[in-house]
Amino acid sequence: MSAHWDKHNTWEDAEKSWDVRSSELEQSHPIRQLVKIPKLPGIRPKTKKHLRWKAMNYLAKYDEEKFFIKYFFSNPIKHGFNLIRSYLTPLPFTRDDDFFFYGLKNEQEFRDMLAKKNSKLVIGFSYCHKPFECPSGRFTQECAHETDNPVCGQCFIGKCVHSLPTKQVLPVFITTVHQIGEVIVKEVKKHPKLEITYIITACEMTLQMFGDWANMMNVRGLGVRLDGQICNTMKAFVASEHGIKPGMAVVLDNTKTRILDLIKFRREANI
Ligand code: SF4
Repeated sequence: MSAHWDKHNTWEDAEKSWDVRSSELEQSHPIRQLVKIPKLPGIRPKTKKHLRWKAMNYLAKYDEEKFFIKYFFSNPIKHGFNLIRSYLTPLPFTRDDDFFFYGLKNEQEFRDMLAKKNSKLVIGFSYCHKPFECPSGRFTQECAHETDNPVCGQCFIGKCVHSLPTKQVLPVFITTVHQIGEVIVKEVKKHPKLEITYIITACEMTLQMFGDWANMMNVRGLGVRLDGQICNTMKAFVASEHGIKPGMAVVLDNTKTRILDLIKFRREANI
């Protein structure tokens, strides 16, 4: 973390040198890119039906160690109340373009959280937007973000990890919703004096399906919508949760800029 950024005096210098190298690598070591962003609905109309029920069913069915069930019953009144309150809203988030806020009204409120000395940021990247040539493999919870690797040098995840501050920040490379859910619950339990918040990249369907569970945990944060070859049916979603994801999801360019602005903001908050 921070390796590339720490070699430079200012954010602007670090970003410029990253981008120049990335453009050079695009010529010398081209990797597979999405040539055209397909126009797909975030969730297919048929899939939208009873989506909350499908989400609950999915979480329970694949909860192999009964982690979520145990968590729910660790405080059933509080968790039940939070869950029902979330179910009573039409959507579990407030949306601003590709940013989906959970328990927060807008970006300013999220920035206020990022600036808090007693906050810890979990930043999770879905494996669906790792490059096909990723040296750590796509369906893994690893990211080597090697300084000299020509693939990492063109990877948006690599750029984010190299720009992140190290203190009270935890990068996570997400393979399944159960994994990221467990990470967040464990962080909340491990740091009772810190407020845990998150930035998580995921398809719109995932952001909608599991938002109620984030609200149940009462952990406030930000989901970032992926575009490109996304999962917008249950069948595609379940396959991708088992590592079958032939397509490439992407963070759109203006959304990349927004994420990097937030990382810059957190870095400059000097926590
Ligand atoms: S930065 Fe991480 S995710 Fe990106 S190519 Fe390198 S190892 Fe893979």
